[in-house]
Amino acid sequence: MLNSLYEILMPLRAAKNLDKLPVNAVPAPEFLYVHLKQHEGAEAAPVVKAGDEVKAGQTIGWAMDFMSADVHAPMDGKVVGIERQPNPYGGFSSVVVIKTEGKRKPVESTPDPDYLSKSNGELLHRIRRMGIMCEGPAPPSIHSIFNPYMCPSRLVVHVGRDPLPPVDTLIVTAIDEEPIVSINQYMITRQSNDVPEAIKLMKKLSGVNGRTVLACLDTQRKEAEKAASGEAEVKIMSGRYPGTLRELTVWRLTGREIPAGASPMSVGVAVIPLRTAIAALKAVRDGIPQTSMIVTVAGDAVTPPQTVDALIGTPARDILKFCDVPEAPIKKLVFGGPIRGKSQFSFDMPLTKGVNTIVALKADKLVPIAENNCINCGACVEFCPARLQPNMLSRHCQFRVFDEIVKKHITACLECGVCGYICPSRRPMLQYFQNAKQQMKLPRKGNML
Ligand code: SF4
Ligand code: SF4
Repeated sequence: MLNSLYEILMPLRAAKNLDKLPVNAVPAPEFLYVHLKQHEGAEAAPVVKAGDEVKAGQTIGWAMDFMSADVHAPMDGKVVGIERQPNPYGGFSSVVVIKTEGKRKPVESTPDPDYLSKSNGELLHRIRRMGIMCEGPAPPSIHSIFNPYMCPSRLVVHVGRDPLPPVDTLIVTAIDEEPIVSINQYMITRQSNDVPEAIKLMKKLSGVNGRTVLACLDTQRKEAEKAASGEAEVKIMSGRYPGTLRELTVWRLTGREIPAGASPMSVGVAVIPLRTAIAALKAVRDGIPQTSMIVTVAGDAVTPPQTVDALIGTPARDILKFCDVPEAPIKKLVFGGPIRGKSQFSFDMPLTKGVNTIVALKADKLVPIAENNCINCGACVEFCPARLQPNMLSRHCQFRVFDEIVKKHITACLECGVCGYICPSRRPMLQYFQNAKQQMKLPRKGNML
């Protein structure tokens, strides 16, 4: 069984050589749609109004709770309205609509060469004000990762447990979690000059008192060793999904298992994606807020796959047009990776800070999923990396038997999607688990970095 499942999962490997391709900047569209909820926590409060002129990098939304971060204008323009619109990751949120002016230009920066002499509190405050986030549906911010006790959604999993141990292992990972995504790999190749300083900053913020690891793929060994510059030991890891997930990276590098629903900090490990570490460095050193994203554009409707630099708020339609991808054959548009990404219902959905990939699929690649009956083949149990019983868990989620859902350890689910990927009945396993966690207000994967 295991051999055949291994073959099934073979396509789920990290993208190769996408990091070597040129990265072109998508021109500014006529209108940018900047969501004020692009992060974990509460929606940011608008500090501009219709008719205001804004400059690139100007704050347009203030963080309203500890977990959220500020939102900035991606380029010069005029605010034409603030509207409630569908959020790419579900629900509705306020959107600042900006009519852009002129060509893209670098954001005005406020450098601070002496940033390393600042306290961690001051640095984290500046990072928060610059709006630096990780990727994912409700991406956590750097300041909330390093202050787990301050975050209500994480505090709940620490209640009744021992205090968090000191961080003895810092993992800066240049491996993207999902197949075909290549953003962190790109950072090693194209922004290697910033890697040592970014690692040094993460060491300071995490207070690590042991080893620091730069995890990368075998194909990037040389670049990683050069980029690490002695600031971290380089560890070569497999790019085979789901081994690329943060939880399994921690287990493979330290042998420690993260308790169900807890963050790596609970076992003394801090894990930071390299892209986020470099964005944090640029925030504190150069004073550059997060106003754009490097995005992988892939899927069978995109030949060849591309990596582009697009302003936050750019509609997917403009990014696809820039990549010469015709809309007509696309039957499914996904923000995020191919396994756990979110399907979008319109090409007008704009880029947010959580989106690192746009996947465009034609009809012949789509495998329909439906609430079919489980045939008890056991494949999902065999291959679940969290050693759960996805077959039973999915039935309890389907019929909302909440007591049993808890007893079957849903908080240990990594939301890897492997069970749904291999299920011969094509049951919507991941959707069952995510929906149940949302209804029961349990911590979601992605919020627990
Ligand atoms: S998504 Fe499925 S396979 Fe992955 S950890 Fe959860 S139950 Fe296991
Ligand atoms: S893989 Fe699908 S059909 Fe097989 S046991 Fe799991 S849920 Fe049931």
